[in-house]
Amino acid sequence: MQHRNELINVALPLPIHREFTYRLSVGLDSQAQAGMRVLVPFGKKYMTGFIVDFPEATSLKRVKSVIDIIDEEPMISSEQLRLARWMATYYICPLGEVLRAMVPGGLQIASHILLHPTEKLKQVAHQIPKMATSWQREILAFVMTDKSPTIRRLIKQIQLKHPYARINQLEKDGWITRTVEFNRARVQPKKELWVRLSETYMNMDEYELTELKTRKPARARCIKALRKRSSLPRHELVRVANVSASVVRAMIEQHELETYEKEIMRDYRMDYNVTQRTDIVLNDEQQQAVDAINKSLHRSFFDVFLLYGVTGSGKTQVYIDVLKQVIRAGKTAIILVPEISLTPQTVSRFTANFPEQVAVLHSRMSAGERFDSWRRIRQGEFKIVIGPRSAVFAPLDNLGLIVVDEEHEASYKQYEPVPLYHARDVAIIRCKLNEAIALLGSATPSIESFHNARMGKYKLLTLSKRIDDIPLPTVKVYDMRELPKNTIKGELRIFSPAIEKQIRQKLDVKEQIILLQNRRGYSPFIMCKDCGFIERCPNCDVTLTFHVSVHRLRCHYCNYIKKAFDVCGNCGSYNILYQGIGTQRVEEELHKKFPSARILRMDLDTTAQKQSHERMLQDFANHKYDILLGTQMVAKGLDFERVTLVGVVSADTAMFLPDFRASERTFQLLTQVAGRAGRKNNQGQVIIQTHTPENWGLICARTHDFLKFYAAEIQNRRELDYPPFSRLIQILIKGTEEQDVIQSSQAIQHHLASEEYPWQLLGPVPAPIARVQQYHRWHLILKVDKKRDPAGKMTSRVLAEMIDKVPARKNSTRVTINVDPMTMI
Ligand code: ADP
Ligand code: ZN
Ligand code: ZN
Repeated sequence: MQHRNELINVALPLPIHREFTYRLSVGLDSQAQAGMRVLVPFGKKYMTGFIVDFPEATSLKRVKSVIDIIDEEPMISSEQLRLARWMATYYICPLGEVLRAMVPGGLQIASHILLHPTEKLKQVAHQIPKMATSWQREILAFVMTDKSPTIRRLIKQIQLKHPYARINQLEKDGWITRTVEFNRARVQPKKELWVRLSETYMNMDEYELTELKTRKPARARCIKALRKRSSLPRHELVRVANVSASVVRAMIEQHELETYEKEIMRDYRMDYNVTQRTDIVLNDEQQQAVDAINKSLHRSFFDVFLLYGVTGSGKTQVYIDVLKQVIRAGKTAIILVPEISLTPQTVSRFTANFPEQVAVLHSRMSAGERFDSWRRIRQGEFKIVIGPRSAVFAPLDNLGLIVVDEEHEASYKQYEPVPLYHARDVAIIRCKLNEAIALLGSATPSIESFHNARMGKYKLLTLSKRIDDIPLPTVKVYDMRELPKNTIKGELRIFSPAIEKQIRQKLDVKEQIILLQNRRGYSPFIMCKDCGFIERCPNCDVTLTFHVSVHRLRCHYCNYIKKAFDVCGNCGSYNILYQGIGTQRVEEELHKKFPSARILRMDLDTTAQKQSHERMLQDFANHKYDILLGTQMVAKGLDFERVTLVGVVSADTAMFLPDFRASERTFQLLTQVAGRAGRKNNQGQVIIQTHTPENWGLICARTHDFLKFYAAEIQNRRELDYPPFSRLIQILIKGTEEQDVIQSSQAIQHHLASEEYPWQLLGPVPAPIARVQQYHRWHLILKVDKKRDPAGKMTSRVLAEMIDKVPARKNSTRVTINVDPMTMI
C-alpha cells in the first residue's frame, strides 16, 4: 500500500505540455500540499516546480525523489490553481509556465554544476600543456584556473562540440569530479535590525536619567526616545535621537541596548500627490448602474457588466461605490488599469477613498518590492489590489469583484513571454470560479465586449452624459491635402493654419493644450530623393527612425543604432528627404513657432526613469507646462481642468497597420484623446489633422459616435468572419535560418490541415514584419469556428500535441502560439 501523498505531480516551467511525477520521502509526504514549490532533479539539473496533483499510482518504472519542499504554506491557492489550469488549456501553454507567471519573479531556485580537479590531476597539473588532445588541455586548464568553474561557464568560454560527453569522459578517467550547488533565489525577504532598551535602562529612574543627561547627553537622548517608542529600527533611533551611529553601536556592544531582526516590507511610493474628493453623490445614471451591480453582488452571482460611458461620465465613481459595497460585504477586489504610471489620477482616487486598504502593484517596482507586496496581499493585509494586467493574479481570498478599467486597451494582452493571456478574459474566468462580479468599463468598448453585451452574455450599463452636463468637445477635421504646397519642395507641413491659430489663442489665455503624435523620434524614415534609397535596419524588416537629439538612426524593434549621414548610402546624393513626423520633430517645430511656450514631451525616450511619468503628469497638472506633447501615452485616462484644446498632429499613423483591428484602434485612440478636452465650465476643442478624412474610424470619432462605429464594424467582422465571430490563433515560427523556419512552418501546416479540425488554416506566409533581430518570422493563422468548438477544448488538445511533436529543437526554430492575438505583425 502506498501512502496517499507519496507520489506527486509537479508542473515545471518548461515548454513541454505535461506534468512530471516524483516521489516524496518519508517526512516530506506529510507536509506536501498542492500549490507548494518543490525542488526536483530534472535531467542533469535541478528545477523549481509546483505540486499540482497527488496521483494514486504511476506507470513509470523509475520515479525520482523530490529533493526538498520549499514552502511552508502553498504559494498558489486551490482557486488560483484552477484558474491556472483553465489558462493552460485555453492559451495552450504548459501549466508550469502559467504558474510561474502567477507569482512574482525571482523566486526560482537555480542550480549549477561545479567541476573540481581530482588529486590525480593536481599532481600532474604542470604537465597539462603536454596532454594528448587540445580539448583535454583546454577543459583541464579551465577546471584548474577558473575561479568558478561551472559547466555553463565552460561551455561559454570554450566552444566545444559535445561538452557533456567530454566532461563525462574526463570524469571517468579520474581527472575531475563534480558537485551540484544551488543558487539562492534572487529575491529574499529583507530584514532590518531593531533595538530596544535592556532591563536596567528600562527601569532607570528620573534622578539617574537627569544625571546621565549631563554626563552622557547622547545616550540620554537615546533612552528617552526608546522609552517613548519602546523599540525602533537602529537607523531610526540614530535619526530620532539625533546621535551618531557610533553611539548606538557602543550601547549595543555594552549591552545597554538589545537587538533583534525584523522583516521589513519594501514599498513602492507613487510620486503623485493631488488631493481627491471623497464626498461625491452619484447622479441617477450612476446610481442605477451601482444598484444593478449590487443586486448580483449580494446574491454572490457570477455576472459580467459592461459599463459603457463617454469620457468624464463618472465611471470611476461607479467603481468606487461598488467597491464600498464589496468591502462592506467582507470581500476583496482587484482593479485592473492599463498602465499604472499613466493613470496616477485614477490610482490616487482609489487610495484616497480607501486609505490603508489598497495595495498598488506597479510595473516599475523592483523584484523585492513586488515580492513584498505580494506577500502582504497574501497575508490579508489589503482588501483591494490595483495594478496592470498581472494584478489579475493577486493572491486575494474571498474575491468579490474585478474591475477592468478601459477594457478595450491592447496593453491587457501579454506579448512576451508565455502565457500570452488577455487579462480581461482571465479576469472574467477568475470571477466565474469565485462567483464574483466582473465589471468592464470603457468609453470605447472593444467590439468583442460590446457584441457580448448585445447578445446578453454581459449586462450593459450606460452612462450617457458627462458629469455636470459638460458638453463633449467639438471636433474639427483638417484635411492636410488642402494645404498649399510648401516652398521647400516636397517637405511636410506639420501644422495647419487652423491648429496654429488655436494653439496661439489658448496660450494667450493661459489654457493648456495636449498634442498627440503617435510616433516617437524625429522622422520615421529617411529617403534619398535621387535613387529612392531608404535606410533599413540590418536586423529587422523595418525602416530606421531618425533621432535628432543624438543625430542617430535607430531601430524601434531591436534598438540598432547607426550614425546618420547627410549623403545617401547608396548613390552619394545630398538630396536626403526626412519623411514623416515624430514627436521630436513636432517639438522642434513648436519651439520655432511658439518660442515662449513651455513644452513637455512624453514618449518612450523621455520616460525611461522610474517615476518619470508621474512627475511629468504632476508637473503638467500644476501648470508648469503649457503644452503636453506625446505618443499614445497622452491619450490615456488623464483629467486636467485647464486643458481646452487637443490636437492630433497626424491621425494617419494607426490607420495603415496590416491588421483587422486598425480601424478600431484609430477610432479608440482619437475618441480617447478627444475626451481629454474640456472639463468644468469649459467646452473643449479638438482638431484632428489627417490625409485620409474618409477613414471610418475617424468619421465616427468626430461625432463621438461609438454606436455608429460599432454597427458598421460588426458588419465587417461578420462578413470577413473575424472575431467575435471566429476565434483567431496565430502560430509564429521564428529562427535564424530561413530554411529551417520554412521547414517547421510546413511541418505545422501538415499537422493542422485536416477537414476534421474545426478551423480554417491560413498560411504559412512570412509575417508582415518578416525579420526582427536577425530572426526570420513566418506565421500561420487559424480561424476557429466557434460553433464546432465552443470552449476551445479540441483546438487546445490538437495544438498542444502538435507543438510537442514538431521538431523545433532539431533545427533552430521556436514556435509560439498566440490565442486571440491583438495584432498579427
Ligand atoms: P470617467 O471615469 O467616466 O472618465 P470620472 O469618474 O473620472 O469619469 O468622473 C469625471 C469627473 O467628475 C471626476 O473629476 C469626478 O470626480 C467627477 N464626478 C464623478 N461623479 C460625480 C458626481 N456624481 N458628482 C459630481 N462629480 C462627479
Ligand atoms: Zn532592428
Ligand atoms: Zn541615393
